[in-house]
Amino acid sequence: MLLSPEAARVYILNVAVFAPLRQCFDYRFDGDRDELVPAIGARVWVPFGRSQRVGVVLAWRESSATEVEKLKAVLECLDDPPLLTAQALELAAWSARYYQHPPGDVIAAMLPTWLRRRRGLPVQVMDGWTLTEHGEQAVENQQVSGERQVRLLRLLSRKSVTSAAVLADEPSGWRPVMRRLLARGWVEQHQIENDRQSLPQPVATTTVALNEEQQAAANLIETHVGGFKAIVLQGVTGSGKTEVYLEAITQRLAAAQQALVLVPEIALTKQLVARFQDRFGNQVGVIHSALSDRERALTWDACRRGQIGVLIGTRSAVWSGVPNLGLIVVDEEHDSSYKQQDGFRYSARDIAIVRAQLEGVPVVLGSATPALETLANVERGKFLRVRLDQRAQAAAMPRIHCVDVRGLQLIGGLGHHLVTAMREHLARGEQVMLFLNRRGYAPLLICRSCGELRRCDRCDAYLVYHKHINAARCHHCDSHRSLRWMTRCCEAEETVPIGLGTEQLEEAVRELFPEHNICRIDRDSVRRVGALDEILQAVAEHRIDILIGTQMVAKGLDFADITLVGVVDADSRLHSIDFRAEERLAQLLIQVAGRAGRAAKAGTVLVQTHQPEHSVLQRIIADGYEAYARVALQERRETQLPPYAAMAIVRAESPVATRPSEFLQQVRNLLLSNEPANSEISYPLPALMERRAGRYRALIVIRNPHRAQIGRILSESLLQVDALARKIRVRWSLDIDPQDTL
Ligand code: ADP
Ligand code: ZN
Repeated sequence: MLLSPEAARVYILNVAVFAPLRQCFDYRFDGDRDELVPAIGARVWVPFGRSQRVGVVLAWRESSATEVEKLKAVLECLDDPPLLTAQALELAAWSARYYQHPPGDVIAAMLPTWLRRRRGLPVQVMDGWTLTEHGEQAVENQQVSGERQVRLLRLLSRKSVTSAAVLADEPSGWRPVMRRLLARGWVEQHQIENDRQSLPQPVATTTVALNEEQQAAANLIETHVGGFKAIVLQGVTGSGKTEVYLEAITQRLAAAQQALVLVPEIALTKQLVARFQDRFGNQVGVIHSALSDRERALTWDACRRGQIGVLIGTRSAVWSGVPNLGLIVVDEEHDSSYKQQDGFRYSARDIAIVRAQLEGVPVVLGSATPALETLANVERGKFLRVRLDQRAQAAAMPRIHCVDVRGLQLIGGLGHHLVTAMREHLARGEQVMLFLNRRGYAPLLICRSCGELRRCDRCDAYLVYHKHINAARCHHCDSHRSLRWMTRCCEAEETVPIGLGTEQLEEAVRELFPEHNICRIDRDSVRRVGALDEILQAVAEHRIDILIGTQMVAKGLDFADITLVGVVDADSRLHSIDFRAEERLAQLLIQVAGRAGRAAKAGTVLVQTHQPEHSVLQRIIADGYEAYARVALQERRETQLPPYAAMAIVRAESPVATRPSEFLQQVRNLLLSNEPANSEISYPLPALMERRAGRYRALIVIRNPHRAQIGRILSESLLQVDALARKIRVRWSLDIDPQDTL
């Protein structure tokens, strides 16, 4: 067969295959196929080794290093039009370079899980109903009996098709009525594609009038619209940052633009999402991990098509396609959950800033306790800062007091000061929150006869006793041990729990306050979907007087009548060797304190400690976060730690104890041989928990005054490091801007 010159053309496509490989590959696509050539940004199905994979087309090429005849052919084009825009690919390329991560893996991470596989976009179908001619006549001729049937028929007569989403606002029990109408032949049922117009409408009828500070902040954001600017909204807890976001977003929506809002952990930001939904109704889309893959892909797609005005989501939402992006908000920007801790280890906050820069839009970084990195950028004049120093409603900021518990008799961890304060607040009908950052019943189990502590078999960690399941659990690999096994070291003696966890605290509080309702929030108590919502609802309705929680409760809870917060044990945080531990403690204390006295009632915070003179505690309590941050930044500068130096960590792990350090030693030599100007590269160090889930772990820390150079010395050595890892047989990973150095 003779081919026309046009049809005979062979296209060469450069594809990022979804696999952890540092290169991208060329594939051929013959022009005589009766398919369109896959566009740049489209997903393709390609042969890869002995199997097939999904990949994304990065470029069309004129030529390839491989002979064209030898290139493998694209098997199938999965998207038309393409899923990823040129801007998205640019962000991916930047991220792959900055984090030195395989481009295919980066792009896969940008897509919802649903689309990482060989399948098309999901279509949302739902039930819809239409009035039949028969039905119309029945209404006209008043043949319909029953108020509810008439009402439903009238509703249906307003639109050609009415969806289940619209009827969701009807009094419950409309479905049986609808079935009766169907049986009579008065309505017809179909499957219709869901349109967002049919989702709930905004319900907020009045908006709060912003106070002066809030208005100034909103105005400042507005003056930077249309160009890149990083704006730090530093507002004390309860100062009304959310209202500022809402105002700024209202303006963007009015200009037919979209906003992207990142939040740390969606479970506890339900209240925040509800406020957005009240204000913006069906324009709000939410992406979080509790949704199914399908639901996430649907929202992702709706946003990409411009059908969503405000996309709210956790970390991964930062990659979503937002064609008319006008503003990015990162709420609680200091939160460590913005950093992905495995695989592709990116910081969603930092990506949000880079994205805002690429797309020329302002990004608002909101927090009561901005990260030291962020404050350093303010100091350098790179970010603009605007403050909210007044609480929107409360008379005053809560007062924080240190309670010296040295030598005190503690009941379930509680000293008498705290117990007395609890009684006073409860007597006034107010609520109390106790904070303890250790779940389980007791963090240690000791044999009373030989004094041995129970450890996990697979980790360098102690087992935590959980009373409600009467078993010991490792919080690092999640293995369980029944207590019977515990007593094996000595015949006679018994293993006893020592130390304090949230379960035990709850038990003690129940004994101390039998007449009050008590509830515990931690990962164990809210494992079941919906459990957390129920608890929060109960707190809001005053069915719970005392709330006990881990750091889950430090964030975002907004309850007017919690007037006393007790930090049961501040000490454990004062002794971590990680350089960020103090910063985290400072943020945590301020955030926990922020839960007290949210409305008109003043709040009190009691912090129990054995080290009341500790300088960090002193500074936070006496002078607040700012004063703490000033000193901390000075210390970081003197010790050349982030944000005054760039840091990267190479981690390695293996079931064989010696291999990680052997590998890392060679990596170190390799990096040094490449003349890493000014870089400081540590010797291999064992991880703080050297063995975890049966694998030994070690790391090296690399520091350089300049971020760009860290990337450079690593990029030149990556392929060699990969080869070393294969030879010595370790798993390894690279962490740029690590959150911890343990
Ligand atoms: P933040 O996010 O800074 O902690 P929020 O935005 O949650 O603070 O506001 C705290 C409380 O104050 C909320 O209940 C909010 O409705 C209320 N609030 C905020 N701004 C105003 C205002 N201008 N007038 C009245 N109430 C306000
Ligand atoms: Zn373990």
